[in-house]
Amino acid sequence: MDKKEILYWLQEKDKNKLTELWERADFVRKQFVGEEVHLRGLIEISNYCKKDCLYCGIQISNIKLTRYRMTEDEVINCVKFAKGNGYGTIVLQSGEDPYFTKEKIVDLIKKIKKIADVAITLSLGERDEESLRLWKSAGADRYLLRFETSNKELFTRIHSSKQAKSLEYRIEQIKILKKLGYEAGSGIMIGIPYQNYESLADDILLFKELDLDMIGIGPYIPHPNTPLGKEFLNSYKNDDERFVPSTELMTYKVLALTRIICPYTNIPATTALATVNTREGRILALKRGANVIMPNLTPPKYKKLYEIYPGKSSADEDPETIHNGIIKIIKEAGRVPGKGHGMSLNLIKNIINKNFT
Ligand code: SAM
Repeated sequence: MDKKEILYWLQEKDKNKLTELWERADFVRKQFVGEEVHLRGLIEISNYCKKDCLYCGIQISNIKLTRYRMTEDEVINCVKFAKGNGYGTIVLQSGEDPYFTKEKIVDLIKKIKKIADVAITLSLGERDEESLRLWKSAGADRYLLRFETSNKELFTRIHSSKQAKSLEYRIEQIKILKKLGYEAGSGIMIGIPYQNYESLADDILLFKELDLDMIGIGPYIPHPNTPLGKEFLNSYKNDDERFVPSTELMTYKVLALTRIICPYTNIPATTALATVNTREGRILALKRGANVIMPNLTPPKYKKLYEIYPGKSSADEDPETIHNGIIKIIKEAGRVPGKGHGMSLNLIKNIINKNFT
């Protein structure tokens, strides 16, 4: 699919026509990654962050937010829950918290690998190459770092604080992850103020160019205590036809197009989608290209403080309730929970191509 066709679908409004896109994405998903929905147990280990991303509720400038760090025992308890429920992966996510030094993360990775046969995904922000290498050697398998938007001007606008790095730096980090042997994940937000269709089409093409193993796509949700959220809520016109709306429908379109263009990649039905449509967000995502869900296993007392945007889906629910709800969603979508680590088929395909062709 070329850029012209991507742009056509992004701007298509006819429901009947869009059914064609949903069916095509679902067909590709079935053919390339099958019926399994892989469960990745998400543990939000800290909401401290030294960065100041203008859209994010845990940015350092949000002084209204109560900060927390999970103890090692608390993290291990979450891992035990994941193991007990047959999860193949746990995801350690946090703000860029200097307390979690590279040595502390090495320790945590080793302890987790000792007690559970799970893949470990890290999502700890921009980190130096030495840390990334150490963590890989200690047993980390995957790393998530969204580039948020491929438009340089927009990226710079939403990462304009002094400690922020450039878009080029972010893309370089993703390439380093691949070089170090991680399954590399990235992603974007849909409907960032002033994001245009052209740049959204470029985002999807960049997914392909980076040959990503995981791609997270969620709507931008304004947080009232952030500079971008204030602008969005007070003065931004979300219905300006020139710009991408931060809607559920637009998110499904990008998800479906991404599945068609990157057929082997792992694509989650994101929490942000479940936040804008609690009842159906995840089911519709599974029917339009997604093959992963990341149940949030963070203890509720912390989870509500990991407030990157308000109204986060299932913020008050305990892991047991969340797990049961997600198994129900998978069944309702006519799919089955994944077995094993749910390794990237994109990576497997690349290994086969390299060695046997
Ligand atoms: N610190 C790590 C990082 O930057 O990759 C991981 C945590 S960060 C909060 C994870 C993701 O949350 C970001 O990549 C961004 O896409 C998403 N996010 C942050 N604020 C958001 C908002 N207001 N609406 C939607 N997604 C948001």
